[in-house]
Amino acid sequence: MVRDGDRQELTRRGDVLATRRREYDEDDVRVRPGRSSRPRTRTRPRHENAVDGFVIAVDRGRYTCVLSDAGPDAPTVTAMRARELGRKSVVVGDRVGLVGDTSGAPGALARIVRIAERTSVLRRTAEDDATTAEGRLERVVVANADQLVIVSALADPPPRTGFIDRCLVAAYDADIEPLLCLTKADLAGPEAVLDYYTELELPYVLIRPDSPLDALRALLAGRVSVLVGHSGVGKSTLVNRLVPEADRAVGTVSAIGRGRHTSTSAVALRLPDVAGGWIIDTPGVRSFGLAHVSADSLLHGFPDLVEATVDCPPNCPHTADAPDCALDAWVAAGKADPRRLASYRRLLASRSGEVDPREPSRRGEE
Ligand code: ZN
Repeated sequence: MVRDGDRQELTRRGDVLATRRREYDEDDVRVRPGRSSRPRTRTRPRHENAVDGFVIAVDRGRYTCVLSDAGPDAPTVTAMRARELGRKSVVVGDRVGLVGDTSGAPGALARIVRIAERTSVLRRTAEDDATTAEGRLERVVVANADQLVIVSALADPPPRTGFIDRCLVAAYDADIEPLLCLTKADLAGPEAVLDYYTELELPYVLIRPDSPLDALRALLAGRVSVLVGHSGVGKSTLVNRLVPEADRAVGTVSAIGRGRHTSTSAVALRLPDVAGGWIIDTPGVRSFGLAHVSADSLLHGFPDLVEATVDCPPNCPHTADAPDCALDAWVAAGKADPRRLASYRRLLASRSGEVDPREPSRRGEE
């Protein structure tokens, strides 16, 4: 038999030890808890009294959480990370175990002692950060989201399919469902955008300033949805329409840190609808750096192009100068939109550093 301590160690070291694990009982096979939010209390008996919480904001070492069993009017709980978590980061959307003062009273401080296994991880490469020895910094934006809502205006500013493509890659990479949310539908029709994505069968909703949000609310109900979008597309307006208390909620959350508003961090807001659910606003995320996504994973954002690549030579980089890349013939034969291939190759190039994503001439396409 294996002691609990050994079992934990095996789990931690992961698949490298998969073969060695065969020496042990069937029971020792790692069990993924799936979508359950309940952490495995067995592994940390010292904290069996920890209560379950959901992280709604992070501000320099302080985590704002709501208790899973508390109602919508219960006070939020401010917590810090327990040292025993080591280097594990805690992000918005994490389901955690809390000990200590979880009363939510002014000045009360709880401790996060556990992080439940994440069902999804939305990442971005922070391209604007200083380059480290290991390369560009990869950041987890949000954990456990079900859906990525890509907010784009149909006019003023015009839709940027390059940005939407980038978000789609991030969504598929994170195993999160994308939803296209097209605002300012009173100013322009969605035909051009939908035509561009015609092969993807992408779910979408149209938003007008004066129309009810029933369709969008139905798609958000009971789920955790991350909203991304450029400034000027009406994302903040949308957030305020969905959560009329949003400004106050964000203000409260921002005040718990060290007094300074941090517009870059993600904030989870509870939907007031009966079915519940959360939207996570990401004011500081202007784009998704994709340097951490492999060329093959990048292709997952372009399901209309994937099929063509079976005819590519082995290890084809799919770039414009790649000899015999089957993507060119695929597009020439009318099987995909040439703009889609151009967009894919632009993302490929920006990943490998051939094109500076901040270069002004490119910015309009991001
Ligand atoms: Zn190719």
